[in-house]
Amino acid sequence: MDYELGQLIDLSKFQNLFDLIYETTGIPSGLIDPNGNILTKAGWRDICTKFHRVNPKTRARCVDSDKSIFELFNEDKELTFRKCQNGLIDIGIPIIIKGKPLATLFQGQFFIEEPDLDFFANQGRQFGFDEVEYLKALKEIPIISQEKIKSIMSLLSHFASIMAEMGLKQLELIETNKRLLEQNEMIKENEKLKIDFFTNISHELRTPVNVIYSAIQVVNSNLGEGDNQKKTLKRYSHIIKQNCCRLIRLTNNLIDVTRIDANFIGLNPSECNIVEVVEDIVLSVAEFTKSKDIELIFDTEIEEKNIFCDVDKIERILLNLISNSIKFINGRGTINVNIFDREEYILISVKDTGIGIPREKHEAIFKRFIRGDELLARSTEGSGIGLSLCKAFVEMHGGEITLESEPGKGSEFRFTIPLDIKGKYNLNINKIEKQSRTNNIEKIAIEFSDIYKMHV
Ligand code: ADP
Repeated sequence: MDYELGQLIDLSKFQNLFDLIYETTGIPSGLIDPNGNILTKAGWRDICTKFHRVNPKTRARCVDSDKSIFELFNEDKELTFRKCQNGLIDIGIPIIIKGKPLATLFQGQFFIEEPDLDFFANQGRQFGFDEVEYLKALKEIPIISQEKIKSIMSLLSHFASIMAEMGLKQLELIETNKRLLEQNEMIKENEKLKIDFFTNISHELRTPVNVIYSAIQVVNSNLGEGDNQKKTLKRYSHIIKQNCCRLIRLTNNLIDVTRIDANFIGLNPSECNIVEVVEDIVLSVAEFTKSKDIELIFDTEIEEKNIFCDVDKIERILLNLISNSIKFINGRGTINVNIFDREEYILISVKDTGIGIPREKHEAIFKRFIRGDELLARSTEGSGIGLSLCKAFVEMHGGEITLESEPGKGSEFRFTIPLDIKGKYNLNINKIEKQSRTNNIEKIAIEFSDIYKMHV
């Protein structure tokens, strides 16, 4: 945070104190900021106010002298009194808050012995001062004993440290307030997300239940209608199953989200041929994509690659990405699933010719409960959990998921699976057994339940 002394300390309250110091010591005093601006002053004499700080050249010397205190401090030189460029003496102690010098508290100007009148007469002439008036002003400058200077310095350093302490407390207060405000904003934002999420979820839960309910009603009213009975039962039982899948997917995802939050979910790695895992998933959804006029193309740089990964999670990532692609392709389109073999990881890409995603939403869609379209303008089903789960699953493997997309130009999601998850997670190979691969039909029924046709 950038700050100035005046923002941390009410300098007007110090004016009285400066006046009192001047009355007690008879030496002018003041506060000057690092750019040489005067913040507070007391008892300043004519030589400064009518001559040195008026003429641009001598003024420049004053400002230089004021600034030099900060340089002296930076060079870590011990501070004593010093002669300014205009020939007068002062003492200055910087007020430093969190390592940043904000002002110099100084007392001056004075002499420690009788001034050299010839030098000042010359100086007066050099800068075009009225000599009589200038020397008269010079006479007002007090001559202070070394003894007194010592006690003034001690007073000054106490004063400076009290001001620095006050400033620091105020700064900490300001920073704490700022942090609290930011946290408050975040809490409000999270709260809003939660409300949106629960509104969305209730909608999600209610719709399938409503459909199941109406389907059952229709089945009931059709019972007893002879030939049609079997046909109707079959049709509606399909709808019931479909909607059950949606509820199962939603609850599965909700459960995973909760388990991820509670750190309960971990990798269940096994050795597998990743090419086969990806290809199997693609093959098992091929028929469905075909029925939607979507071309699904699988390509791979490698024929076989045995790696350690959590097959179930990889499958869910893929199904999620592919189902999103299907969801966001309007009419005909293409989905490309590619596998690339990189030195330290496998890269899998799911690319579609769908509606695309505006740049400003790229980051947000990986956050939980965020959906690309407005809540009320629901053109597709979904709870906004899918991509956040994909990201969590990829990151559990130590990989990364990225997106390249532009509205109207389709989307490409790429994720990596590092080859060394065994070493990285210190997995015990003995415990990792090759898992038998289960039938994908159930998984797809669940993961694709958002996009399967559900209504009668
Ligand atoms: P949802 O279950 O709502 O689809 P996701 O987390 O899977 O939730 O996706 C979040 C949002 O990201 C979607 O609502 C959509 O707006 C956008 N999105 C995801 N994948 C794609 C895609 N392939 N094409 C266009 N938009 C997408």
